[in-house]
Amino acid sequence: MLNVIIFGPPGSGKGTQSAQIVKKYNLIHLSTGDILRHEIMEKTPIGCVVKEYIDNGLLVPDEVVLKMLYHKASIYPKREGFIFDGFPRTIYQAEMLDKMLERHNRPIDVVVSVEVKEDELFKRMKGRAVDSGRSDDNEFTIKKRIDVYKEQTYPLIDFYRNQGKLVAVNGMDSVDVVFDHISQAVDFYLNKKNILP
Ligand code: AMP
Repeated sequence: MLNVIIFGPPGSGKGTQSAQIVKKYNLIHLSTGDILRHEIMEKTPIGCVVKEYIDNGLLVPDEVVLKMLYHKASIYPKREGFIFDGFPRTIYQAEMLDKMLERHNRPIDVVVSVEVKEDELFKRMKGRAVDSGRSDDNEFTIKKRIDVYKEQTYPLIDFYRNQGKLVAVNGMDSVDVVFDHISQAVDFYLNKKNILP
């Protein structure tokens, strides 16, 4: 059982890395951004509520995200574990996630922080905007999302550092090199877990 959080600003490559980590460690990928976009696509009542937040680069309210996440996580009770991508994004979400996992006695094991410089984030997101089809990949919203990250999400770095779970990886490297570094961090954790009682 392994529970991983992949953490980083928008455009840091969390989604790309998650896809590879999922395969290697047989994890369930829980991306709150993907789940929310699916709700919007299906035009569900939740989708109608969250669209405005997403289109404006704002965080969707904690209660909405948490309810959706609990529901999704409960569908897969017996798998190897989860990779949480784009979640948590506030201290409150992180505290609630800890509580949920504590109830199942399956805490977060490793938090991988993918670090990318701000000008590179802009460049990447503007670049992908052409093909992504995402309504929030435009210049105004990209800037807003990065500001929101700095204000509301960045403090989680200290939250997880204080728990001794944070591993920083340089996200400026190529996709394969970043993946190698993430794998090394996860393998190191798994080995340590096997050796220590
Ligand atoms: P992402 O695909 O992770 O970049 O998320 C896209 C958008 O979905 C974000 O800009 C937020 O509006 C919303 N979102 C995704 N995850 C969360 C979360 N954990 N809490 C609040 N809003 C979220």
